[in-house]
Amino acid sequence: MKHILFFLSISSTFLLQATNISYEVSMPEPHTHYYEIKMSVQGYDKEYFDIQMPTWSPGSYLIREYSKNVEKLTAIFNKKLLKIEKLNKNTWRIYSQKAENVNISYKVYAFEMSVRTSFLDASHGYFNGTSMFMLINDLKNTPHELTIIPYKDWKKVSTSLPKTADKGFHYLASDYDILVDCPVEIGNHETFDFMAAGVLHHVAIYGKGNYDIEKLKVDMAKVTQGCTDVFGFNPNQEYTFIIHNLTTGSGGLEHLSSTTLQVNRWTYSESQYKGFLSLVAHEYFHLWNVKRIRPIELGPFDYTKENYTSLLWVMEGFTSYYDDLVLFRTGYYTEDEFIKKVTGSINNIENQPGNKVQCASESSFDAWIKAYSPNENSYNTTISYYSKGNVIANILDLMIIDATKEEKSLDNVMQYLYHEYYEKQKRGFTMKEMQGALEKISGLKLNDFFEKYINGTQTFDYSTIFGYAGLTVQTIVNNDAGLGISTKGNIISRVNRNSSAYEGGLNVNDEILAINGFRVNGNVDDFIESKNVGDEISILLSRDNLIQTISFPLKEKGYTLYFITNDSEKRNSIYQKWLSQK
Ligand SMILES: [Zn+2]
Repeated sequence: MKHILFFLSISSTFLLQATNISYEVSMPEPHTHYYEIKMSVQGYDKEYFDIQMPTWSPGSYLIREYSKNVEKLTAIFNKKLLKIEKLNKNTWRIYSQKAENVNISYKVYAFEMSVRTSFLDASHGYFNGTSMFMLINDLKNTPHELTIIPYKDWKKVSTSLPKTADKGFHYLASDYDILVDCPVEIGNHETFDFMAAGVLHHVAIYGKGNYDIEKLKVDMAKVTQGCTDVFGFNPNQEYTFIIHNLTTGSGGLEHLSSTTLQVNRWTYSESQYKGFLSLVAHEYFHLWNVKRIRPIELGPFDYTKENYTSLLWVMEGFTSYYDDLVLFRTGYYTEDEFIKKVTGSINNIENQPGNKVQCASESSFDAWIKAYSPNENSYNTTISYYSKGNVIANILDLMIIDATKEEKSLDNVMQYLYHEYYEKQKRGFTMKEMQGALEKISGLKLNDFFEKYINGTQTFDYSTIFGYAGLTVQTIVNNDAGLGISTKGNIISRVNRNSSAYEGGLNVNDEILAINGFRVNGNVDDFIESKNVGDEISILLSRDNLIQTISFPLKEKGYTLYFITNDSEKRNSIYQKWLSQK
């Protein structure tokens, strides 16, 4: 008995210590855009096991098929090549024959400079683990080690992965999720730190630009503190910003303890700087909203296929609402600027035909095939869960403040979701639970609201809702004659549903040559401006190089413009609660 127990304890300890996955990333020829990856699997005593390349990156809801960039996969034990069988697009079976350690190597082509993919050239390297590291499903929850060997002249590696040694670039992730949730910047980029909200923030900036480090330290500290104030605490001890200054670039991707921002290199000029700070606020707010407060479907992730959720209007829409609100609360936007943002969001969604076709929950669910794969008809059939969710958050915020007599706001809902689901229940929440959280804080019954505005496409009663705060909402319908198209030069790029062009039979890709006998040179609007509703127009066009004439009567543009009047005498305590600079 004693003997057996002793034997068991030794063997289980041995197994625990012995099962180990480590990766080494090197880049000896960065100009070729290939990373070389060595993956070592130790103590995984199997006849065979499968390795898989993820197909997508969390936060960016599109199947990207990262395995298409993998080359020269081999597996070796004791200097002998092991048999490998490819099972499907992203899965390889390694016949390891109980080998105690298997050394797998492969190359990854990396030449896509986006926040969610990987890139390598003579100037720097950047990668997201999802496009680099094969996973073994059974071992996903075990620690994963990483060693990075930068190109010979490169001195810096920036990532939020915990380092395991002072020298070199050795890291340990507690599991596969963490490994691939920490993007890595490698090269000779600029770095600086700042403290805010009790968190040590590291910033890595690649690329020339008109930034001022001392100014960034002050402003990024204010914005990160502003996001933290919504929740009252910050779960990180350290946080890493990776910033890429590029000729064209806009966007970011959120992670638990880091983010990558890609911006145009002149974004730090006065006219664009608030846009940059709003991006900082947006991605930073995500460290709570979506990385910790999350829909039940988004974690643990299945990296091999779509992970559907109907809640992106909360994850992205609420975050969009707060990125503006935080900039207001921290003093970067004035009240008028903030109200202008609110009005802009309302006008955007209310004048997009797709807003009456796709509801917020469907927009979220279909992100994989619609938001991330738009086509020429998307404007007519979809609505962004960012902009729609932003307006929904605003409406709910005012409803909660009104219903609780200024006791509570949407901030309290965010705090509740964090404590209840992330901390207490350690899981994501369902749509029903999201509704429950809003009801709990507001005391309102929201079945009707969800049916009409989340799972339906009804128009909000803006006058009533903004009226709570003493604001006046006015609408003006634009009844001028219009075609209802967008063009690039003379080529039609979009035909708006129910417009003159839509009903008259104009198509995307038609080249407009002349209107009413006058040659057109990219100035279609000039010809329409002087026309009245009901006037017949005759368009000479080239469609697939066949010349034809199409005639139809002009309809009104039909745009509804919303204006919010912020009259200081009418502002009330609800307004004060909504827009107090905390
Ligand atoms: Zn976002």
